[in-house]
Amino acid sequence: MPFKFELKLLLNESIPSYWFIFRENLLLVEILDDSASIPFNSNLSEFNMSLELKQPIYFGTFENIPCHFFEASNDFEIPKKMSFQSIRNLYGLLNEDLLWIAGRAIQLLVWDKNSQYCGRCGTPTEIEFDERAKICPECSLLVFPRISPAIIVGIIDQKKKKILLANGTRFPASFYSVLAGFVEPGETLEECVRREIAEEVGIEVKNIRYFGSQSWPFPDSLMIGFLADYANGQITINPIEINDANWFTADDLPQIPGEISIARKIIDWFVQNY
Ligand SMILES: [Zn+2]
Repeated sequence: MPFKFELKLLLNESIPSYWFIFRENLLLVEILDDSASIPFNSNLSEFNMSLELKQPIYFGTFENIPCHFFEASNDFEIPKKMSFQSIRNLYGLLNEDLLWIAGRAIQLLVWDKNSQYCGRCGTPTEIEFDERAKICPECSLLVFPRISPAIIVGIIDQKKKKILLANGTRFPASFYSVLAGFVEPGETLEECVRREIAEEVGIEVKNIRYFGSQSWPFPDSLMIGFLADYANGQITINPIEINDANWFTADDLPQIPGEISIARKIIDWFVQNY
């Protein structure tokens, strides 16, 4: 990975930097034809901004170029030819490394906003300079960026060469994906896979194996992907979470997630192998 997390800027501050500037969850980019770029220059004043900037936060380098992020204030005038865009919509437009660096930045930005005060005693927190953390000067509580692990699993019926896909109650009507769910405290990832599958579609699986992982900064998930083989049971959906679940062959798939997601990578893997 060409991105390197760092806490302190060791480089000369006047060299060009990437500026990841957010408004809510939207990222400032310049879009030209079919490509997008991140503001890149040596000095913020080059943006021609007459505004009160919140303090930019340095968070590392990409190919030795410093990366900073901050949230635009309300009076931020959007520079000419630039616009605020959803990170997800920039897939395919923005260099993929920079896209995921933007994902790191938005997670840190949200964490910075949500950790202004100690959750235990309410005292304003201070930055802990030795690691990516904040500390309460009153009770010494350390607050790290929150990452919420979630499993995502492709269930395969090896005999029928089919994959189980579900239409979740929060999805559009025609959209199907693999199952996913957050890990509970104390649970192993494999236990979580079995529990989520049993809760959502009521079947048993075997041969759970690791597929890969993906940061999913919407807002702070880490998706840990698995494959599992169907073992027993009839699909019995949990109507609170699932509208419909069914088995699909590789040549007869419903509408599935976009290329950016690990869900899609699991489905693509199934299509290539079955
Ligand atoms: Zn405290």
